[in-house]
Amino acid sequence: MLKKHEVLSFASKTKSAGRIYKRNLHQDLCLTLTRRRETVRHLNDEDHFFFLNRRGFHTSKPSLTIAKKKAGSIIPSKSSPSLRGWLTLEGYRIYPWSISGLETCVVINAEDDKKLAVTFDIGYTTRPSVRCQQVFISHGHMDHVSGLFQHATKRSLYNLSPAVYYVPPNLVETLRNVGKQLHSLSGTPDILLDLDIRPIQPGDSVLVTPEYEIRPFATFHRVPSQGYLLYHRYKRLKPLYRHLRPKEIAVMENQCREENIYEVSWLPEVAFTGDTTFELFLNNPPADLLKVRVLILEATYLENVTPGIVRKARERGHTHLSEIIDHAHLFSDVERLVLIHLSDKYSSSFARDAVSFQMPPSLLNKVVIATLAKDRS
Ligand SMILES: [Zn+2]
Ligand SMILES: [Zn+2]
Repeated sequence: MLKKHEVLSFASKTKSAGRIYKRNLHQDLCLTLTRRRETVRHLNDEDHFFFLNRRGFHTSKPSLTIAKKKAGSIIPSKSSPSLRGWLTLEGYRIYPWSISGLETCVVINAEDDKKLAVTFDIGYTTRPSVRCQQVFISHGHMDHVSGLFQHATKRSLYNLSPAVYYVPPNLVETLRNVGKQLHSLSGTPDILLDLDIRPIQPGDSVLVTPEYEIRPFATFHRVPSQGYLLYHRYKRLKPLYRHLRPKEIAVMENQCREENIYEVSWLPEVAFTGDTTFELFLNNPPADLLKVRVLILEATYLENVTPGIVRKARERGHTHLSEIIDHAHLFSDVERLVLIHLSDKYSSSFARDAVSFQMPPSLLNKVVIATLAKDRS
């Protein structure tokens, strides 16, 4: 095994461009080097470090070279400014708190509709999520549901109305019972005795504001799971009335039913996958899933240096970045992709580098990596 001081020594001798990462990515990002170098012969005998230069990843074993760098944008791009952790994408404000296995809690607001404030998954109770009265849960793993009781408690402390928790049907009774058990610990708050937990499944829909609706869809995970599509209601004057002046339209609105004046349609805007294998996109995906403006999808595994990592991702019910890249054409109609649920073993900088080095420009230009929870932890 290559010791750290050996790597440091190597770096000082080679003056190569790029970075050396320890195989155990969680522990250490060792070095940033300064000059371009294409190959790293010095590490051929070792398997605990790999090298990332400006042309691509070079592992200790040449056969494990995993990517070539493609031209593309820096992530997140300037068109997706981040303000105190919030992303602003395609008219939506998104607070994407997520680390695989630890906590996922993604809040969605609309820039043009203050009424829209929903949370997808509640594995941790972020401050923005406390303001959400409607929470949609993808599945029963702790990193997606365990914050429910704290969410209810915090809203009670702030004198906010009780939230509604929409969950896969198999979770309803268990969660209600856990609420009662937690109440028995301290006798408060009473809300834990009567949590508003409602079953929801594919085929159902929930009107979360007059202008927004949420519909679940089935996903592929180790336990029953589902993702959610957010639809926005649009209306357009019927051709017959498009010549009218605003005053005349206002008069008609007072006299007629809306559907007599307008063509009304619901368009898919945002999708949240929760945890799923990539099979979601290959095996008869929901018709609107790949038409959304913002797709929030899991990418638990990013690196290719570990043999069998893609198979491991599938076995664990997760997605590997390479699967997204291999099927980049599927996302041609999606405006932005937000990658969430990254493994805790990746640092934020490694995640950004891994994605930017491997992704083709067509995808890279629309990708945002959710490192918020890593950066704030
Ligand atoms: Zn998870
Ligand atoms: Zn899970």
